[in-house]
Amino acid sequence: MAKRDYYEVLGVARGASEADIKKAYRRLARKLHPDVNPGDKAAQKRFQEVQEAYEVLQDGEKRRAYDRFGHAGPGAGFGGAGFDPRSAGGPGGTGPGGSPFESFHFEAGDLGDLFGNLFGGRRGGPSGPRAGEDVRAQIEVSFRDAVLGGTASLALRRERACATCGATGRSGKATCPTCRGDGVVAESERVRVRIPEGTEDGGAIRLQGKGAPGAGGGPAGDLYVTVRVTAHPYFERRGNDIHGIVPVTVKEAYAGAEIAVPTIHGSVRAKVPPGTQGRQKFRLRGQGVKDPRTGHTGDHIYTVRVMVPKTVTSAGADAATLLDSLYEGDVRADLPKGL
Ligand SMILES: [Zn+2]
Repeated sequence: MAKRDYYEVLGVARGASEADIKKAYRRLARKLHPDVNPGDKAAQKRFQEVQEAYEVLQDGEKRRAYDRFGHAGPGAGFGGAGFDPRSAGGPGGTGPGGSPFESFHFEAGDLGDLFGNLFGGRRGGPSGPRAGEDVRAQIEVSFRDAVLGGTASLALRRERACATCGATGRSGKATCPTCRGDGVVAESERVRVRIPEGTEDGGAIRLQGKGAPGAGGGPAGDLYVTVRVTAHPYFERRGNDIHGIVPVTVKEAYAGAEIAVPTIHGSVRAKVPPGTQGRQKFRLRGQGVKDPRTGHTGDHIYTVRVMVPKTVTSAGADAATLLDSLYEGDVRADLPKGL
């Protein structure tokens, strides 16, 4: 379950002043306090949620840590007990049948008691497991690994709350020597990423639990890795088919031949039929990309390029003249006229 943003809980902007935060909290606390909503579970949960948000946002240090780390931050255990994020918040948090709170009015005299109760006494408050945030990264993968599957290594640099100073940046009166006052330390971690067979350029891989660490025993977030597939000098992927060009000699094209066609799966012996034309395409079934969703494997499609010898001799010219006499008609008969 996604934990609601503290600013959202209080209904204030991220840049809200301390006074605005306090005002928003007081307004909500008045509305949601258990004393004025006896037996209303939804109001109770909202009240806890509001209190938790306020405890963090009214405290400069905690607020800075929250702005930086979100719920996963170094606020692990803000103190207190009994707060269960699984039951808190929820969608909206208002009671069944709309808002039962609107009609409530305080008598002036009640306020003192109420706020004495809210602002005094109750030290600490909500804590408990908090899920870590999701993290995004990008990885470059070779064409071959993307098609056939493989593994890649990803260097993740992330900021973590400084454990020495509890993210305050201070060590007593001095600057924290570990983080030099930043409150955070950069960490580098190598993560091995399994590239599934058939991965497409721009595809995403989710690594559960490899995101930011949770707090208070909460689960870590997930790591979403976007895959960038490097272009191949020879192969080109179109859907689940792989395309490539195969040069052949004039004789191979004219008389037919068996040639080796490179595919991503290896070299495949293939026939060039007699009378093959330049740019003619041939299909090798099942030599393309295996679709990770359907399990169906695409084809390898190769386009023939007829290579004419650059060395010109009279014998060669005679052979070409002989070939010329064999065309069934004008090779340019189909070209548009009068352009
Ligand atoms: Zn530090």
